[in-house]
Amino acid sequence: MKTYKNPILFTTEYGAIISGIATNSIINSLNSINNQSIRLSIGAFNTSLIPSILCEAKTPPLGFADDTMLVTRAKSTQELEAVTNEALSLVEQRITGLGLQIAVEKTEAVLFTYKYKYTQPAIKLCGGDVELSTEMNYLGMVVDRSMLFKGQVKKAAARAAGIGNQLARIMPNVGGPREDRRRLLSSVVHSVLLYGAPSWAHTLELVPGNVQTLNRAQRKVLLRCICAYRTVSKAATNVIASTPPADLLAVERMAAFDRRRAPAAPTAGDVPRTKTMEAWQERWSTEESGSWTRRLIPDVRPWCARSHGLVTNFHLTQFLSGHGCFGQYLHRFRKSDNPRCVDCRAPTDDAEHAFFECDRWWRRRMELKATINGPFTPETVVGKMMESRSNLAAVERFVKEVLTKREAEERERQYQEQNT
Ligand SMILES: [Zn+2]
Repeated sequence: MKTYKNPILFTTEYGAIISGIATNSIINSLNSINNQSIRLSIGAFNTSLIPSILCEAKTPPLGFADDTMLVTRAKSTQELEAVTNEALSLVEQRITGLGLQIAVEKTEAVLFTYKYKYTQPAIKLCGGDVELSTEMNYLGMVVDRSMLFKGQVKKAAARAAGIGNQLARIMPNVGGPREDRRRLLSSVVHSVLLYGAPSWAHTLELVPGNVQTLNRAQRKVLLRCICAYRTVSKAATNVIASTPPADLLAVERMAAFDRRRAPAAPTAGDVPRTKTMEAWQERWSTEESGSWTRRLIPDVRPWCARSHGLVTNFHLTQFLSGHGCFGQYLHRFRKSDNPRCVDCRAPTDDAEHAFFECDRWWRRRMELKATINGPFTPETVVGKMMESRSNLAAVERFVKEVLTKREAEERERQYQEQNT
């Protein structure tokens, strides 16, 4: 005997969540119900595949799947109660008629209403009462009574963070697995984080908290993927990792889903990824943090569309983020007494100074300019790196050489300080 879990969902004045037309195969499978002079309208949440059965006042339809969802809609509690209980008794007949058993204790019910004050309906199933709750789980999604999906976003973020932490243990910043493996793990985390996005992405405009929760969880994972220090800002992390912010990815998934279901052929300008990149670029150009990264990568579009293997690693990320073995950074995070350059005594030692100005690396910089056959400035370097593999390799070698030397000397200095 199979036990069915039967969540019930009913709405008051929330018709907008239902759309779609029942296919013939569904209608045919429910012929016996049609015989009871009940009108069926089977649909789905506006943007999701979740099947639901809309039960309208006075014309209650019903149906069932492995996990049955019943949606009823009415204008008053009294009407809702009548319609729901009638539909439930039909569900009960139908399921028990097949020799199956309904688990009343596993049945969940949520009331959606815009009303502030209302009387709770008494819902009956198989002679028992079904308690109303504030949220329910359906096909792995948490659907809450406000339909703002805060619970779902939080749950997804927590799961993604859990996976991110597990990754952190197996992927140390220095050394560690190769870029493609990091990418694979990042995609696993994103699929957890964005699960069911077509159903809830529309709430991101209404709930800033959902955006923050998503992007915070994404940042944790991306920091690992690009081997960055935890101090690198969210905006810069996304750019260095060539990954649009999670909230934009969620909206993109929703748009892609709608596009697949649209009857008319979409125009080229409607491509969801193009829109994501435009929105991301707009955000990036007005962002307050990540100014060094923005100087190097002012436009995320060519950066993300680069064709040859520019992969981020521990040293390249320090170069692109400005967070690393630089006097100013060490001073800001209290690892050094002053922001000066220990090599040339310049007052501010930051990424720009270390790679583009410091006298210590003058000769190497000259060699690099000759190799890449052009200027070496913060404004031009990323363009040069994307130009050819040999340019990329030359810049990477230089960055690695400067930082490896700096790190070794910084360790030595700290060792001396501790032992004097
Ligand atoms: Zn210097």
